[in-house]
This record gives sequence, C-alpha cells and structure tokens, in this order.
Amino acid sequence: MDDELRERVRREAETAALFNALKHGSDAQVGAIMGPLMGENPDFRPHGDEIPGILAPVIEDVNAMDRDQKRERLAELAPERVEELDADDDEDDGVLPDLPNADDYDEVRMRCAPNPNGPWHIGHARMPAVIGTYAEEYDGEFIVRFDDTDPETKRPLLWAYDEILDEIEYLGFEPADVYRASDRLETYYEHARELIELGGAYTCSCPAGEFSELKNNGEACPHREKDVETVREEFEAMVDGEYDAGEMVLRVKTDIEHKNPALRDWVAFRIIDTPHPREEAEQYRCWPMLDFQSGVDDHLTGVTHIIRGIDLQDSAKRQQFVYDYFDWEYPEVIHWGHVQVDAYDVQMSTSTIRELIDAGDLDGWDDPRAPTLPSVQRRGIRGDAIVDAMVELGTSTSNVDLSMSAIYSNNRDLVDDDAPRQFLVRDGFDDRGSGADESYEAVEVPTDGGPESAHPPVHPEHEERGDRDIPVGDGVLIEAGDLPADGDRVWLKGYGPVRYDGERFAFLDADIEVVREEGVDVVHWTPADDNVRVRLRTPEGDVTGYAEPGFADVEPETVVQFVRVGFARCDRHDADESVAYYAHP
Ligand SMILES: [Zn+2]
Repeated sequence: MDDELRERVRREAETAALFNALKHGSDAQVGAIMGPLMGENPDFRPHGDEIPGILAPVIEDVNAMDRDQKRERLAELAPERVEELDADDDEDDGVLPDLPNADDYDEVRMRCAPNPNGPWHIGHARMPAVIGTYAEEYDGEFIVRFDDTDPETKRPLLWAYDEILDEIEYLGFEPADVYRASDRLETYYEHARELIELGGAYTCSCPAGEFSELKNNGEACPHREKDVETVREEFEAMVDGEYDAGEMVLRVKTDIEHKNPALRDWVAFRIIDTPHPREEAEQYRCWPMLDFQSGVDDHLTGVTHIIRGIDLQDSAKRQQFVYDYFDWEYPEVIHWGHVQVDAYDVQMSTSTIRELIDAGDLDGWDDPRAPTLPSVQRRGIRGDAIVDAMVELGTSTSNVDLSMSAIYSNNRDLVDDDAPRQFLVRDGFDDRGSGADESYEAVEVPTDGGPESAHPPVHPEHEERGDRDIPVGDGVLIEAGDLPADGDRVWLKGYGPVRYDGERFAFLDADIEVVREEGVDVVHWTPADDNVRVRLRTPEGDVTGYAEPGFADVEPETVVQFVRVGFARCDRHDADESVAYYAHP
C-alpha cells in the first residue's frame, strides 16, 4: 500500500470513527468501522489484511478525545457529517409533538396517576416514558399520584405502590413528588363542603336505577333542590359512616338536561363498606369517585398538562363543572389512543394477569409469558429500550401497536457491546401450557485430533476482554439440527473445522477461509463431559440445554449472548441447574 492510499484510509477511518462515536455517544469500535469503510471504498479491499492495523491506532486516538474535540475534528475533516449529526438530533427531538400552551406556565408539571391494583403491564410504561421525556425536554417535572380511592372493585395491592415506583426508576425517571389519594380524604371532604356551600352539590338517596331513569329523561330527582343545611348534615353523616353502601351519594349539580347524559349530576362521593387495605385509610367509608378526586388533585398539585385515554374524554367535561364552581383553570389536556402490544398470548390487563397468577397458570408477575414490566426486566431488557419505543409511538388519538421487536432491537443496541458470548446447546423444551411447538435435541459426537481446548473470544469486537477456555475432552455436544451429513464438514466455533464420518468428528487442518469460500457451517457446541445444565425461560416455554463450563462463573444479572440462540439474562445458579431468562434474538 502506498503512502497516499494509507493516508486516505486513515482519514476515512477517522471520519467514520468520529461520526459513530458522536452519533452513539460511545467509543468507536474497529468492527463497526471496518465494514462500511470497505463497502464505500472498493479500492481499499485488496488491502483488507493491512487495514485493521491502520484503523486500531486511529480509533484509539478518537476514543481518547472528549465530545467537543471530536466535533471540532469532524468539522475539519468532513463538515457535512456534522450537519448530518445535527439533523438526526432534531429528528429525535421531534418525535413527541409540542405540549399545548407550554409557554403560559412557569413550569410544565405532568402527572402519572396509577391505580396500585397490581404491578405494571408493558402498556403502563407509556405514561411515565412520555411525561418523563416531556419533563426532560421542557425542564419541568412530573409527579406520581396513586389514585387508590376504590378499596373494593379496584382494590389496591399493598406492595404494588413501591413496585410501581421501582418500575418508574427502572424506566429511568424520578418523580418530583409522590402522593397517595387515600392519604388525602380530608382534603376531598373539605372541597366537598365548599362545593355544598356554593350550591354545587347535593346528597341523594335515590336507588341508582331510579335516578338513572330520571336522569336519562332529563328530569331532576326530588333531592336536587334540598336546602344547603340538609345537604351539609347528610354529607357529614356520610363522612361519619352512618349510611351503608348504596344508601346515599353526593352528586355534583351540573345540568340535568345536558345533551350528554354522562355529564348530568354525576356522583362525587359514595359509601364503600369494605375497608381500605392501607392502615392509614382503613377507617374511611365515604370515598370520592375518580373524577372528583383527580380533578381536585390536579388543581391542588399544580398539574399543567394531563395526558389521558381518548375514551376518558367525558372526564374533563365532568370535572369542568367543579372547576367552574371553584373558579379554577382547567389544565391542558392531551387525549391519546390505546396501545396494543403484540407477541404475547396473555392479555395486557392487570386483572387478567392477576387471575392467571391466582389460578397457578403463571408463576408470578415476572413470569416470562406475562406482558409485564417485572417480566421484561427479569429478561434483561433495559428500561431505556422500552422508553424509546414508547416515545416513538407519539401521542396520537388513534390506537397504536407497539411491536416487541422494536423494544428488542433497541435493547440489542444497548446490551450487545457488553454481553459476553457463551455457547448453549439446547436439548429440550417444555411449553408450560403455551401451546408452542418447538423441539430441541443435543447429540454427543466423539472427537479425534485437534487441540485440547478452544479459546473463542469473550466478545468478538473486544479483544482486550480476553478468551474463554473450553476444554474439548473426548467429545462435544451439538444440536441435532447442526449435525452434518456423513463425510461433511462443520466449523466448531472457536475451535476449528472437523469432518463427520457418521460417528466421530475428525479435526482438520484448514483455515477459516473454508467457511467463507466453501460454505462450511459454523456451529456452537459444548464439551460432552464438562458443561453446565441450563434452564432458559422464554415467553413460549422453558428451553433446557447445556452451556459451556464458564457459564457457572457468569454473575447473576449479567446479560450474555448465547451464540446463535439469543441474548439472555443470567438469573441464578441453583445446585442442579443454572437459570437464565431469554431476552430476544
Ligand atoms: Zn335523588
């Protein structure tokens, strides 16, 4: 290679390394630069052997620069690529539409208002992902408010409060404040009393069916015109627990002839006999309905922008009556459609998942078949991968489909560079009721000749992380589907080429060119007599198999790549087997 060409290679490589490092905010890698460099510069190809040697020091220099230095240098070498980077950044910022009238507020403040009746399913991640991202973009904040005011039909699970906060942390966000509505009953009562004084509410003892009939005809019930004194007394009796469920409610006086019957004199408080599971709230019997509670709280906690489902459009209209009585400004509202997630047989519904767990059909909330955040977390999927996919969906009013493959692809980008490589030979499958139809079988093949052990790299793009040491012994296990025909060759990955004679593998003297030029398959394997029994839990069922001996030393929580199988999170090493959770291909 002459000096001129060498200089061009250096320059092109430096440009590519700078661009990659800036774009991904991480160190540039020889492997990631090499392919595109050769693709775009056909005249480099005849010098393929020399190029990595030129690349390595260039990339090392680039990785030693800080961000500003990198930008400066890239602007010298290729100003158009700096523009390309900036254009990409603008695109990323533009995924979420601007918040309406954000300039009218000193600080944007949004809220996530979960019902703590269970850990979160994947769809629940959308709210914190989007409002957390908005809070970052607008330099604002968001709060978490547990709307836990229905101790009966949406009964809170005590441990779900902390679990949900953990899930928000897993997604990478931190709320500015956390509220529990069940701590705030006295506040709601105060506002009910004020509303009564303003003539905006009345106690009503009509049986529900009778009221409904009157209301649908646009007719007031006899209680609507009660004097304030009586309403006040009856409401205090509700608060004091003097009525049973269904005997008395407090209604907001709206417009009994409103064209939308759902807005006519709606219930603000009712009696629930079942005590709240939280000790702090177990004495209360008079509970606000969600529209009253959340409407009052949004105002009192300074929420400027609300996102809620398109099916809840009536909520803002109902609450507007209360806001009018109190002369409050209603926050900005964005309505969005529902999100559906593919790839799961189990319905994305807290109550359904809870029933399946209670019936023993799922092991728990983090069963890999459950479409929940605890489950994907256990599988080694990072919160960022979910947030990015959720933000990509935007906030449109139409229903949107979240493809798990988008999350998997994001996650692969996040974990690949760190994930140590491991071999896992699969040999069995238990569908655990999923109905999936997969089968695996391992076959043992004695080997002759060749080195005593194999030394594949821990990571093919990180030589500095060293090699694994896999003793070959007298034979290997491979997956039945990888067994070559009699007389054919395979390349045992990290070890070398072997020929199969129908019974044994004989080691061959050949270099890796046979893989490229003669199409010899590269297969993964483990030693037949020195391996680790593994249970790989997947959304379709449990795959069993044998990993290379080094898997026993992989720390739990580590995400590995089982070569040709997929990424998985090492969960634990039990006495009789190691357990990993499958993430994605
Ligand atoms: Zn009535």
